[in-house]
Amino acid sequence: MPALAAMTRQRLEKLEQESLRRNFVISEPEKGIDVRRNGRTLVSFGTNDYLGLSRHPNVKKAAAKALERYGAGAGASRLIAGNHPYYAELEALLCRAKNTQAALVFGSGYLASLGVIPALVKKGDVVIADRLIHSSLIDGIRLSGATLCRYSHNDLNSLNNILNNNINNKTIIITETVFSMDGDLAPLQDMRALADRYGAWLMTDDAHGFGVVETPRVADIQMGTLSKGVGCYGGYVCADKETIEYLKNAARTLIYSTALPPAMVAGSCEAVRMILDGDGEVLSALKKALLFTSLLNLPQAQSAIVPVVFGETEKVLRASALLEEAGFYVPAIRPPTVPKNTARLRFSFSALHRDKDIEKLAQIVKDVRCAC
Ligand SMILES: *Cc1c(COP(=O)(O)O)cnc(C)c1O
Repeated sequence: MPALAAMTRQRLEKLEQESLRRNFVISEPEKGIDVRRNGRTLVSFGTNDYLGLSRHPNVKKAAAKALERYGAGAGASRLIAGNHPYYAELEALLCRAKNTQAALVFGSGYLASLGVIPALVKKGDVVIADRLIHSSLIDGIRLSGATLCRYSHNDLNSLNNILNNNINNKTIIITETVFSMDGDLAPLQDMRALADRYGAWLMTDDAHGFGVVETPRVADIQMGTLSKGVGCYGGYVCADKETIEYLKNAARTLIYSTALPPAMVAGSCEAVRMILDGDGEVLSALKKALLFTSLLNLPQAQSAIVPVVFGETEKVLRASALLEEAGFYVPAIRPPTVPKNTARLRFSFSALHRDKDIEKLAQIVKDVRCAC
């Protein structure tokens, strides 16, 4: 066997032994919220398309019209010839949604994070981040060269202590608004007060909040994605005019990457407009999650995400398989996506879920928790 294949095979075997090997499964969207996997139709609790906007007729129509008019690809980066007219429309809508002077759309949420953080801080500066922030933010911080300090999850005392130890540094505090694997909310008002007391900046990632829960718009830098509640693809950052103008000149993932396809940006425009107008069943993803947590006597859902922690990876894989047998797709989330010994089922609720499916699911989850 060639040396490269021998090495990668060995690594795969190690992952396999730890129940950490991952594989693609073909997932074909079917009617409503259903998905076809492994030859069976399942009710999906694994999508971040919280409002069902990815398949909303208005969003599809807007995307199709743009595709017809401008073609499949943007053809160049935004600073060259790729800045098609839908961008200005989308950025104006995002300013409205986030109550900021300016907005800037990136290729994805991941690219926004990798572009924005290194543009603002560098070696010698300090980033103070919640212990549970998303890997895309961690990668942005690493790329910047800034020193990363992590505070205990949503713990203001822990944050305060770290701020106090870094009084002389240029500092950004980074949190998610809605935590992606736990579904809980950051104490943003209190964090704003702490940031002001120490002269630090506050940056939030609203990937799982936008369109689902209203969170305080108090951060200096509000980033997020167009790929979840908005149902399309892309990332964004909203801030004051100067910061956005600077990012156009300094965020390398924006400068050196091709603009998003016109159809994607046009689709996002329509979806954001619907969220702003309160059309797309806004907030009802939360209602579905609340039904589930009340049926199972779990702590009340704060967002569309509800975790049920099993601890060991083998257990959670079995639980996920049992749910699949019963007709439900619920992804098992394992380390390194979540901390060791906190492997979990992650239920994502959507406005498209039917109450009767949630009732059936809750009953089966009760049985599965006993069996695993
Ligand atoms: C999904 C996600 C991202 C990445 O967004 P993409 O547009 O999918 O690249 C960033 N941050 C958080 C918290 C996320 O959950």
